[in-house]
Amino acid sequence: MTISNLEEIKCPKSHTFQTQLLSAISVSDNYELKEALIAGEINLVTCPECGQMFYAECFILYHDSQNELISFVYPRSFQEQATQCVAKMKKEFKLALENFNDKNKITYEPVLLFGIEDEEAILIHLASNLKLNIVKITPSIARKLAIPKLMPFYKNSQDFSEKSLLSGLEDLIKHNPNLEHYIDFFKRYQNIKICLQK
Ligand SMILES: [Zn+2]
Repeated sequence: MTISNLEEIKCPKSHTFQTQLLSAISVSDNYELKEALIAGEINLVTCPECGQMFYAECFILYHDSQNELISFVYPRSFQEQATQCVAKMKKEFKLALENFNDKNKITYEPVLLFGIEDEEAILIHLASNLKLNIVKITPSIARKLAIPKLMPFYKNSQDFSEKSLLSGLEDLIKHNPNLEHYIDFFKRYQNIKICLQK
């Protein structure tokens, strides 16, 4: 299920125009949309007047029933207003639920995301302070598992290992409890591990 609306938006140079923007997607049966969302390609628009490409500032309700994930994905620029976003999210979640056919099955709480790419940027930013090394996971595998491509591992250990990965993740999450994708990965690690070893 996909919902898009005709919205009036402004480009960075303040030209106003109307465009179709996605506001809700359900990805369990739409792998391409999920990939585009993770890659940050959704609601990337081009101004008809000056030709500049930019992300439209609107959030997307994202539903992945297979992974029992409901999330509100906000653009990077909203990160500083996270508190207001959470309040807005909870209010709009109630309304949005009415648009899902399988609303009766949704019993899990929504999470607030600012895109996987943004969490990776936070990891890079925090790595040196937290004494973390970063390892890169093959993008196709990361996409398949819906996990970030960049993973922290504890610097004191010379090699990337399960132990150094888990202690690196623990430090990262402790320092920034808003990194939903890393928290999710940490929680799902025992299941994901099998896929990563293949
Ligand atoms: Zn413009």
